[in-house]
Amino acid sequence: MENFELNPLVEPAVTWYEKNKRDLPWRRDNHPYHIWVSEIMLQQTRVEAVKGYYERFLHRLPTIEALADCPEDELLKLWEGLGYYNRVRNMQCAAKVIMESYNGQMPQDYEEILNLPGIGAYTAGAIASIAFQIPVPAVDGNVLRILSRVREDDGDIKKEGTKKRVTKELFPFMPKNHPGSFNQAMMEIGACVCVPNGEPLCHSCPWESMCLSHKHGTTDHYPVKSKPKKRQIEEKTVFLIVDGENLLIEKRPSKGLLAGLYQFPNVEGWVEREDAVAFAREKGLDPVFVEPLPEAKHIFSHIEWRMKGYLLKVSDFRGWKNEKEGNGILISKDEIRMEYAIPAAFETYAAYVNLPLGKKGFL
Ligand code: SF4
Repeated sequence: MENFELNPLVEPAVTWYEKNKRDLPWRRDNHPYHIWVSEIMLQQTRVEAVKGYYERFLHRLPTIEALADCPEDELLKLWEGLGYYNRVRNMQCAAKVIMESYNGQMPQDYEEILNLPGIGAYTAGAIASIAFQIPVPAVDGNVLRILSRVREDDGDIKKEGTKKRVTKELFPFMPKNHPGSFNQAMMEIGACVCVPNGEPLCHSCPWESMCLSHKHGTTDHYPVKSKPKKRQIEEKTVFLIVDGENLLIEKRPSKGLLAGLYQFPNVEGWVEREDAVAFAREKGLDPVFVEPLPEAKHIFSHIEWRMKGYLLKVSDFRGWKNEKEGNGILISKDEIRMEYAIPAAFETYAAYVNLPLGKKGFL
């Protein structure tokens, strides 16, 4: 890849983008807040999945001020199902800084955007280049992949050092007249043409004549990616404790995985039916019906939950003892749908009490 000229990539990519870009809600204006929300949502989540979330989020929180002032439970509910909940918490921290230090307006300076909580080089580059036409790169996984293929770059794209190097290499080539279009063109080529899974569609690519891996038939070898670390397996048993109307949920600790979200009561390890009954009895409840539920699995980035579940029907909750520092909540499904964010990890079990989560639960 030595001496590969980046400059000739710019104009064909921008021309292709202007002709082929998808009509996406966040592309209809170049408002910095809209770009920010969409870029944070799109990290780790597909475009189609993000669309509904994006529109609902902006309808409820149309300004940076509204985001700064939003109660935490409501904020997490708006994010329910998108995962990586620290993303939206950090957005709120940044919104508060913007309110305090920038009069509620996104700063129009790359370094100042980069200094906001939760905004890394990619997001800062996207906001600065698309909203303010500042010639800075925005390098995400898509951009790393396509530049790796086009240049036969052996750098491991999982390594932070590779991302930093590619970002640095792009800086001098950012076009001053349309940096936002160039960044979006690269994202779009990565999403639609030089795709991550499956054969790249080289015949539709504006870089076909320049691409080294296409020329040498090495697209399979690029990008170079180190293998992810093995996930830690955790077994859990989940209890759905319900009467006709209500069910028990509890708030997760304020730190760690899924911090501050709500969940069905659960214990570490897989337990038997009699243990499930004993669990309910410890809470002062007397199950009249116990149904073992199928196993479920949820994969986080470094952890995998393997779950078993029990549906425990009680005739009423009169004897209920709220333990664990009183974090248990007896609540109706409608109230959960309105206000309490339950992560997608519990989706399989939520279905047994007809409680739709995430996008399926939009009101
Ligand atoms: S020519 Fe093919 S391999 Fe090269 S960047 Fe385009 S789609 Fe990817």
